[in-house]
Amino acid sequence: MNKMCKVRLPLLLSFLTIAFGLSGQDSTKLDLTYLGTAGWEMIEGDLTILVDPYISRIKLGRGPSISPNDTRRPYSRTDYFQSDTALIDSIVSKVDYILVHHSHFDHLSDVPYIARKTGAKVVGSETTTKILALYGIPEEQLYTIKGGEDYQFEEFSVRVIPSLHSALNQKLYFDGRELPADLEAPLTIGDFVEGGSFMYLIRFISHEVLTMGSMNYIEKEIEGLQPDVLLAGVNFSRNEIYKYTERLLKATGYPKIVIPVHWDNFRIPYGFSQERAVEMKINPFVEEVRAASPATKIIVPTHLQTISLKE
Ligand SMILES: [Zn+2]
Repeated sequence: MNKMCKVRLPLLLSFLTIAFGLSGQDSTKLDLTYLGTAGWEMIEGDLTILVDPYISRIKLGRGPSISPNDTRRPYSRTDYFQSDTALIDSIVSKVDYILVHHSHFDHLSDVPYIARKTGAKVVGSETTTKILALYGIPEEQLYTIKGGEDYQFEEFSVRVIPSLHSALNQKLYFDGRELPADLEAPLTIGDFVEGGSFMYLIRFISHEVLTMGSMNYIEKEIEGLQPDVLLAGVNFSRNEIYKYTERLLKATGYPKIVIPVHWDNFRIPYGFSQERAVEMKINPFVEEVRAASPATKIIVPTHLQTISLKE
């Protein structure tokens, strides 16, 4: 090795260290993979966070949301929930943290399996962590939150934002149930009670992401936040809320990027057509965003595809 090389190698190494972090992973970009419903995998450098990972997408109930081409076993609300572990294993491997918006089955029911399999730490309401404890997830893995916390972890920080559940059933929805004291795992679909709702402001190194798990929010709790990415709840129930999109975008400083969530039909498997949901929910939402915030970029996510955001 000549003298030149001896000098340049350390320089090159220090450049690589700055650019890609000590681990060799790139921490200047954030990879967001849409898991459907309100679910995400978020990777920055060595850090993997899941949000509301609902992968099993069980065939629940009857009616137009069920596909005749779906040959899986049908579920009713009184059936015990069973995770599709083979499917989860094919998608999820290493996870550091799981953030849960609320405890309904389409947000929480796959978390016990994923937390046990990966050892991930879970952040959620008292109901969420009680359910995980019933499934045998150890206390050291469970952060119970009340709303208002602003926690610093090693590679990211997260502000827990008190929120509201979607105003389902033409605003008649209210789920104030608590878990019965004698409840045991496994839970039925109906046992997954709401247990309060949150949003999260996740501060990565490269981006700030504001997450939603419902089509609702408390305006004063999000006022003044300036996320560069907003994961906005976009199901029909947003229409129950006064100027939903306009107020949401204004309060959050008209984010550069908006990604719609919870708009897909989650009773059909990945790979089935979501065309109808796009037509009925996404298209009107895109119009609302354009009217309220013309400079905002809207990215419509596809199941299991990764959106890479550069710094
Ligand atoms: Zn819910």
